[in-house]
Amino acid sequence: MSSASKLTLWPLTPATYQSPAQFAVYGDDAPRVPMPAYLIEHQDGLVLFDAGLDPDAVGDPVSGYGEVAERIRVRFDERNLLETQLRKRGHSLADVTTVIASHLHWDHIGGLKQFPNARIILGTGEQAYAGSPERFADAFYRPEDFSDEHGLRYDEIDDDLDIFGDGTVTALRLPGHTPGSLAALVRLEGRSFVLSGDVVHTRDAYEHEVHYHGDVDSMAARRSLRRLRSVIEEESAELWIVHDPEDWSRFTADLPQL
Ligand SMILES: [Zn+2]
Repeated sequence: MSSASKLTLWPLTPATYQSPAQFAVYGDDAPRVPMPAYLIEHQDGLVLFDAGLDPDAVGDPVSGYGEVAERIRVRFDERNLLETQLRKRGHSLADVTTVIASHLHWDHIGGLKQFPNARIILGTGEQAYAGSPERFADAFYRPEDFSDEHGLRYDEIDDDLDIFGDGTVTALRLPGHTPGSLAALVRLEGRSFVLSGDVVHTRDAYEHEVHYHGDVDSMAARRSLRRLRSVIEEESAELWIVHDPEDWSRFTADLPQL
């Protein structure tokens, strides 16, 4: 059996929010946007791609995130917790060996503090920027998520990183949205995915190579979009845009569910 055949990708049931603009048009029917995390089981370790929301805010997101959680109508309950979902596969939080943090925005890494013993992969420059962001980007970071007091072991990478050395899981260095933005290439048997992180937010932006208004460096973001496209083409990979509700329904429909 090849190592790839032992690899499994589990999209975890995410907390969600609704964009105020879409809510204004569609009301309660506005699409719910995932705040994602994925579990990858490999024979040599467990990997998370992103870590969802802060477990201390479960059931009451306003308590952890303030009025923004109300404004964007965050929904976050027990079944979205990493711990609850890992348990379904017989794992505990302590079993996670690696977390690839796509970047340090609060909607991606609220659960990071639960992994003091894991190797936490970040793109170079992310920690420095998160500690002192430009004003427009300030609201995307919640300092307590990456505070020193959690004793997290960060490993900043300035190039792609093949996590297990066998090509199955690769962190892709694609700066622009933030200085350290990462995506991940996951090569399953017969099918490969690129998990976008926030390198791209919508299909349209991907097709037309349009950077996002909240990107820190728009030139770098466009370069990263082009590189993302070349990886997708070379690998014949499927792009999973992590905040795209349609990608979630399409891909979770034919992947095994927890
Ligand atoms: Zn995001």
